[in-house]
Amino acid sequence: MQYYMPTKIVFGQGVIESGFDLFKQYGKKALIVTGRNSSKKNGSLEDIIKALDKNKITYSVFDEVESNPSVETVQRGGGLAIKEKADFIIGVGGGSPLDAAKVIALLTKNKANDENFFQTEWKEDPLPMIAVPTTAGTGSEVTPYAILTNPGIESKSSIVSEKIFPAVAFLDASYTQTLLREITLNTALDALSHSVEGFLSTRASDFTNLTALESIRILGEIFPFFLESKDIPFQMREKLLYASLLGGMVIAQTGTTALHAMGYSLTYFKNIDHGRANGLLMAEYLDFLKSRKVNQVDLALKTFGVATIQDFKLFFDHLLGVKEKITEKESLYYAKITLKTRNMNFTLKTMGEKELSEIYLNSLK
Ligand code: NAP
Ligand code: FE
Repeated sequence: MQYYMPTKIVFGQGVIESGFDLFKQYGKKALIVTGRNSSKKNGSLEDIIKALDKNKITYSVFDEVESNPSVETVQRGGGLAIKEKADFIIGVGGGSPLDAAKVIALLTKNKANDENFFQTEWKEDPLPMIAVPTTAGTGSEVTPYAILTNPGIESKSSIVSEKIFPAVAFLDASYTQTLLREITLNTALDALSHSVEGFLSTRASDFTNLTALESIRILGEIFPFFLESKDIPFQMREKLLYASLLGGMVIAQTGTTALHAMGYSLTYFKNIDHGRANGLLMAEYLDFLKSRKVNQVDLALKTFGVATIQDFKLFFDHLLGVKEKITEKESLYYAKITLKTRNMNFTLKTMGEKELSEIYLNSLK
C-alpha cells in the first residue's frame, strides 16, 4: 500500500487570519487565481489580501477562471504569472479556479503548446500553490489533479502530477455560506461521488476505505436536509467541507472511475454541472456494479443510510428533480468517448459500450 498526501491542511473558521504567517515562506509576490465574482462576495479574497498585506507580500489578481476551465484561460493566467514575476500562486474559489491555479503554477516553469497541451511532460517543479476552496465538493485542495476542458477528445482531461498537490489548503466553511442551494447540492454530489468511486476502485486500500466510508457516512447524514428547502446551517456546511476534503484525500490515492468519466460527457455536451452530472448517473452505476456482484456496494449504501439500491434510486429521484434527457444515439457516442478514458482502468468491472450506454439511458430517460 502507498499513501502520499503532502498538503498542509488548516481547517476551521478564521484560519486565513489566524494562519496568516503560513504565506510568508512562499515569497514576496503572489498571483491570486479566482473566478469572476464569488470570491469578492464571500470574504475569501478580502481575507487573503489582508493576510498578504500583513506579511508585506504584494499580489496581482487573475479573476477570469470560468467553470470547467479551458487551456486558453490557463495559458493567459500563466502568462500573467510570468509577467508579474510571481513567487507563488493562490487559488481561491470552486474546483475550477483551484485546478486553473495548479496549471498556472506549472506553466510558469514549463512551456506547453496549445496543440499538445495534454501530452506535455511537466518536467520542472511548478511554483508553490496555496488552495482556498469556497465550494464543498471537488476536494481539489488535496489532490494531484487539475481538470480542464479538452475539445480534442470532446471531454475533460486531467493533468496528473504529484508536483501539483497544493502546499497548503485553508478550509473555512464561512466562505461557502453564500452558495445557493443548487450549487451546494451539486458540489456535495461531487464529494459523494469521489468517496463512493474511491471505495469502489481497483486502487482502494484499507486506508482510503476508512476515509471514504467516513465521508459517505457524513454525507448520508446531511443529504436528507437538501429535500427540505431550508437554509443550510453553518455546522452542516462545515461538515460538508470536511466530507469533501475526505473525498479529495480518497481520490488523490485511488483516482475516479467510470462514473466521473461518463459525467464528463454530460458536462461537455449538455453543460450539466460536474457534480450533478455524477449525481444523475450514480444510482444506475451502483446498480450495474451490484448486478456484477460487487458486494461493497451494499456497505456503501448502508453507510449512506439507505437499505437497498431501490431506496437509493428513489431518494436520488427526489433529490435531483426533473432530469435532463438523452437520446440513444447520444448515449452511444458518449459511451465511446468514456471508454477511451484512463478512469476505466480503475473501475471494478469491465464495461463496454453497451453497459455504459444503458447507464446513460436508464439515468436520463
Ligand atoms: P466551479 O466551476 O469552481 O464554480 C461553480 C460556480 O460556483 C461558479 O459560478 C462560481 O462563481 C460559484 N461559486 C464558487 N464558490 C462560491 C461561493 N462560496 N458562493 C457563491 N458562489 C460560488 O465549481 P466546482 O464544482 O467547485 O468545480 C468544478 C470543477 O472542478 C470541474 O472542472 C471539475 O472537473 C473539477 N474537479 C476537480 C477535481 C480535482 O481533483 N482537481 C475533482 C473534482 C472536480 P465564480 O466563478 O464567480 O467564482
Ligand atoms: Fe469530481
